[in-house]
Amino acid sequence: AINVDDLPLDNSFAELPPAFHTRLMPTPLPAPYFVAASARAAALVGLDPAMLAQDDFVATFTGNHVPPRAKPLAAVYSGHQFGVWAGQLGDGRAILLGQLAGTQGPMELQLKGAGKTPYSRMGDGRAVLRSSIREFLCSEAMAALGIPTTRALVVTGSGQGIFRETVESAAVVTRMAPSFVRFGSFEHWSSRDKPEELRILADYVIATFYPELSGAPNPYQALLQEVTRRTAHMIAHWQAVGFMHGVMNTDNMSILGLTLDYGPFGFMEAFDAQHICNHTDQQGRYSYANQPEVGHWNCYALAQALLALIGSVEEAQDALALYQPAFASKIDELLRAKLGLTTAQEDDAQLFDAMFTLMNDSHVDFTQFFRKLGTLQAGDPAAGAPAAGDPAQDSPLRDMFYVREDFNAWAARYRARLRAEASVDAQRKLAMDRVNPKYVLRNYLAQVAIEKAQNKDFSEVARLLAVLEHPFDEQPHNEHYAALPPDWASHLEVSCSS
Ligand code: AMP
Ligand code: MG
Ligand code: MG
Repeated sequence: AINVDDLPLDNSFAELPPAFHTRLMPTPLPAPYFVAASARAAALVGLDPAMLAQDDFVATFTGNHVPPRAKPLAAVYSGHQFGVWAGQLGDGRAILLGQLAGTQGPMELQLKGAGKTPYSRMGDGRAVLRSSIREFLCSEAMAALGIPTTRALVVTGSGQGIFRETVESAAVVTRMAPSFVRFGSFEHWSSRDKPEELRILADYVIATFYPELSGAPNPYQALLQEVTRRTAHMIAHWQAVGFMHGVMNTDNMSILGLTLDYGPFGFMEAFDAQHICNHTDQQGRYSYANQPEVGHWNCYALAQALLALIGSVEEAQDALALYQPAFASKIDELLRAKLGLTTAQEDDAQLFDAMFTLMNDSHVDFTQFFRKLGTLQAGDPAAGAPAAGDPAQDSPLRDMFYVREDFNAWAARYRARLRAEASVDAQRKLAMDRVNPKYVLRNYLAQVAIEKAQNKDFSEVARLLAVLEHPFDEQPHNEHYAALPPDWASHLEVSCSS
């Protein structure tokens, strides 16, 4: 076992001029304890997950001990919140400890909930156990789904009570990402008319995370292009699994195109395109259906911020013009895979639209629907099946819908489409099961794990993590983790309170 003080921490962000951050120490928490760790996240930075439960690591990741090589800091940023300019924000409760070399490049370790910073505004600098467990589980679940995301290494708790709607336990979640720079980090300098700082930040991001862009004729335009493309792709992935972020403010948009800042997120259950997962979002600005458009809007805000560097409005607009086609081609690719289609046909978009309308009309469970769709039989032409397949076999799927005839009509169309590309049932099901998860982080599953953890039983957090690490596998002993939410869960609400 290594001592935490031997961790070879580095910190490239700390090399930026002092205006970009405030160096400070985390504020200790009383009676720290280990809650959960991700072995996969640990492997990314060469750590043995068992070590993370050692006292010196628990003390470090709670902010009670700072290894000698760490240069802890809080970063400044600004941003648009719910479409409105919010001015200066910054790491109000997250403290960057430093970075570790990783199997896929350096990873920064950030302690979220480690105490007040100059950017805390009215906040207490803390995070509750409930939201820390949610962020931990969802970060790792998204990674297992193959969706670009920040990671979560470990959650620790404390005997300290903190006040939200009620008194809850304080906790710290240690997040990992190559960088936590956000769109709002750029908006900060452009809004203050500080072109020099803006350039320093853009040059740092390009040199460190996008070195391949440094030789482009206009590297700043190339940066906007690449971030626009990555953002569009990330949101297409969200739509394809029914993930709703809940707070897509520009300060929560990663410059690396990673899903960042898990707060009042949700996975779609009973499908409703207008669903709003964040109880605080009364207007539904960040509803499921709005996410792609909001992603575009956020890239526009980034373009505004980078304009002085890019040089002309035309060049900025050219970069932003990538958003729609990048989103459209990615979502088409993902939906085709979800339906087990191996070719692209002109009227596929209509097939998808009709499917979503049908799903919406009957409020079918998003995850269960796609998973069950893989069981539909087109009838293998090679096996000499009758042209209509076997519609009687559809009943488990058809039973999800209120209007059977509407489902039958869509299924006939889908079946014809499958037969047109000579789709083979067994093969298609295997392929579909690799992209349509059986297990996602339903709110009620997180809630069960949280309530046990609040009573100091952390076993359910570990068990749920293990299930979510294999979202596409049939897990015969864990079938109940794929079940619809129980009645009590219909009262669950998640908000910005975290
Ligand atoms: P969020 O909506 O979680 O992205 O938070 C928006 C801003 O509020 C960020 O700058 C956070 O650092 C800050 N913030 C949220 N909660 C707290 C808290 N409890 N204490 C201090 N700052 C906070
Ligand atoms: Mg945030
Ligand atoms: Mg947050």
